[in-house]
Amino acid sequence: MNNNVTVLEIDGSALEHNLNHFKQQLHPKTKILAVVKAFGYGSDGVQIAKFLEKKVGYFAVAYTHEGIALREAGIKAPILVLHPQIPNLGSIVNYCLEPNIYNFKIFNAFLKLATQTALHEYPIHVKLNTGLNRLGFSPADVPTLLMQLKEIKELKVQSLFSHLAVSEEKEEQAFTDNQIAIFSENAQQFQAGLGYKPILHILNTSGVINYPKAQFDMVRIGIGLYGFGYDNKETKQLKNTHNLKSIISQIHNIEPEESVGYNRAFIAKVKTKTATIPIGHADGISRKLGNGIGHVLINGQKAAIIGNVCMDMIMADITTINCTEGDEVIVFNSQEMIQEIADITATIPYETLTAISQRVQKTLKP
Ligand SMILES: *Cc1c(COP(=O)(O)O)cnc(C)c1O
Repeated sequence: MNNNVTVLEIDGSALEHNLNHFKQQLHPKTKILAVVKAFGYGSDGVQIAKFLEKKVGYFAVAYTHEGIALREAGIKAPILVLHPQIPNLGSIVNYCLEPNIYNFKIFNAFLKLATQTALHEYPIHVKLNTGLNRLGFSPADVPTLLMQLKEIKELKVQSLFSHLAVSEEKEEQAFTDNQIAIFSENAQQFQAGLGYKPILHILNTSGVINYPKAQFDMVRIGIGLYGFGYDNKETKQLKNTHNLKSIISQIHNIEPEESVGYNRAFIAKVKTKTATIPIGHADGISRKLGNGIGHVLINGQKAAIIGNVCMDMIMADITTINCTEGDEVIVFNSQEMIQEIADITATIPYETLTAISQRVQKTLKP
């Protein structure tokens, strides 16, 4: 693709390790849906999907255009679009994507399209709101929805699903148990009302870890594939998949009183050696990591990021590090480093990973 020196290497064997880690914990019949939205959590959804296609039965993306990108790259596996909009429905059908149907408005619009284009048993995924209050039919809507679904041959409820609100927190077990109970009751109604059984699924990564009894027919795993569980103990059993690397473009020897970077944010107190690295906030490096707060690794040693993070560059203090221009720089290559960045920037690894921008080259190593 290009010869950028700033690269996110996706570790295929780590991805496979993580997938197998969850497979081992699940009933052998439970299907795994790999969530590859947001460019595979900041990496490359297409490369991830190609790598996993033979190993998982289903993919999910958030938006329609993400699903189109997978189809255009030749992915044949079924793809659930978690958050489609009415204007997308034509593309959904053209690209054989499977929509989440979450309210009557999108249901009626899709049914109209299905009737006009004479679709037969087109797979849809009905989402139930069991307490997250984000997307989904309320349980009170189920009888009306079922009455309509029973009458039509254009659509088939491929799956019925819901999403947990606090699957990572054991203290909220009562709330989660209630969500699962509501889902089970409605699943029975669907099965009876439709005369066939849709695939049932409610668990995300931390749901699989904390509520394996609620695995139903399928689970939706996102962050777990990319190396993060809901706590350190679980994360330790997973492998890091996202390795962000760059190189030293230039080294400067800074005299005391001289400054480095915009706003002269760093002023040298003593003779200082700095490395300029071609990665900046436009690549996903938060400005909060500047001014000595964050660091990179050069030849295995920590080099503090000094001065302000620029759009396309950072400068690091390499005074005590033996290195030369062209040497490798590691921004992160472990869950600990990613977690540390998330902590510093007051966020969670989900955001740290998905912040890696489209400008960074992505390469999956099998
Ligand atoms: C993003 C998402 C997932 C994946 O969640 P993880 O916590 O990353 O495993 C599963 N289901 C839905 C509906 C999602 O939006």
